[in-house]
Amino acid sequence: MRLASLLLVLGCSVFAQTNRFDILITGAHVVDGSGNPWYSADVGIRGDTIVAVGQLGDSQAAIRIDARGLVVAPGFIDIHSHGRRGIFNVPTAENYLREGVTTIIEGPDGSSALPIAPFLDRFKETPISINFATFVGQGTIRTQVIGLANRKATPEEIGKMKDLAAQAMRDGAFGLSTGLFYVPGNFTPTEEVIELAKVVGQMGGIHISHMREEATHVLDTVRETIRIGEEGGLPTQITHHKTIGQASWGKSIESLKLVEEARARGVDVTIDQYPYTASSTGISALFPQWALEGGQKSTAERLSAPGERARIKAVIVENLKFDRGAGDPKNVALVNCSFDPGLAGKNLAEVTKARGVEVTMENAAETAIELQSKGGCSAIYHAISEEDVMRIMQSPYTMIASDGDIPVFGQASPHPRSYGTFARVLGVYVREKHVVTLEDAVRKMSGMPAERLKLWDRGLVRPGMKADVVVFDPAKVADRSQYDKPHQYSVGFRDVIVNGKLALHNDQVTTERSGRVLYGPAH
Ligand SMILES: [Zn+2]
Repeated sequence: MRLASLLLVLGCSVFAQTNRFDILITGAHVVDGSGNPWYSADVGIRGDTIVAVGQLGDSQAAIRIDARGLVVAPGFIDIHSHGRRGIFNVPTAENYLREGVTTIIEGPDGSSALPIAPFLDRFKETPISINFATFVGQGTIRTQVIGLANRKATPEEIGKMKDLAAQAMRDGAFGLSTGLFYVPGNFTPTEEVIELAKVVGQMGGIHISHMREEATHVLDTVRETIRIGEEGGLPTQITHHKTIGQASWGKSIESLKLVEEARARGVDVTIDQYPYTASSTGISALFPQWALEGGQKSTAERLSAPGERARIKAVIVENLKFDRGAGDPKNVALVNCSFDPGLAGKNLAEVTKARGVEVTMENAAETAIELQSKGGCSAIYHAISEEDVMRIMQSPYTMIASDGDIPVFGQASPHPRSYGTFARVLGVYVREKHVVTLEDAVRKMSGMPAERLKLWDRGLVRPGMKADVVVFDPAKVADRSQYDKPHQYSVGFRDVIVNGKLALHNDQVTTERSGRVLYGPAH
């Protein structure tokens, strides 16, 4: 090749590299995920990477996105998701895409896939539209070693659990989740969790906890979560922080103080939350924890012994009054009862009435026992105060997470948080109520969870970052999903880019499946 033509080829390729983008977003307000004030710029994407941010309007681009009047932000990272089954039914994760989520972290509440590696390998056969990552669940590990027994583990068993935790970290987990409220987490002494936490912490992971109790004893369990971080030597996170039941409303003042004090003495503790005044979990959450030991069959045996049945019922009555029932059985709405789909959407007062009895706490407790005995139901519990939601949201240590799932559109009655969490914060708590600023809200959804997870190449709009980018209208963004009509997508997100490909473009889900499995720090 002659020198001149070689130079020509080189020159062309240099020219192409500096001026040609695969996607160019122009004229937007960039809210970059750091919490800094918005600024005007164009964003250039090549391959799977943001390669330029600045005045790029004259550059060539395969796809140009005019974003005047709109916000460009990093794709949102949901650090608490239950989508590990749903993603295989709905690989587009459309509920998440339409609220700007580009990464979900699974394995919450002490429950995960195990072993991790073969589970993550399944995504080689199922291309997905968003990124997927996971924690390893303490409850899942414990179940594998000693089943659902309500007893301390032996040193040898704890050794096995530590090996499983370490293997999960090597397989790509981002840390250890606990669900100390659930079987078998509720049978686990704090010291045992700390042993596992030490292993995970040394490998770069975090601890994230659905705490042992979120109602009358919420402050004790905040202390426990902090202790696990302090003695386990790793970052620790209170997940879906809330204070349940009127008797506990306002306790977020003190729980946030506990977090502040812990941080002041050097414990790395953070929080996440969803922006709703109702929680969602099994109807078994009304039961005393000892009654659930050993699973469904053992619970049924206890219920057939009159003395034990009376003791169980007394606790359910208490919980209906002061805990998740918040003083009225109609605060407990059934979502999904495997044995009778017709019960979805009905509340505990209605089902009690349909049994032909008066709606009292005692009779509602009987209804709950009957539902649990037939196979159990998931339920939505309206028992959180709006003041606590807003106070927790304003903490600089709080990020936003959905605790949601990937529902099949139209099926069952999921909590609206699956469809609406991120859009709701931007619509209700930024635009309408001014609880947090737009920049802070975006930080809580992107830069903050990315940093928490050590996802150093995501969560910010900066050159060099992976191109997970959302374009939304700050004047229109809104959640639509409601408790009695949950299957409604959020609105306002026009374009969602995942690893440099448009997964949502001009409000339409595309055929791109550019989501990736993300691996944790010890992989
Ligand atoms: Zn949870």
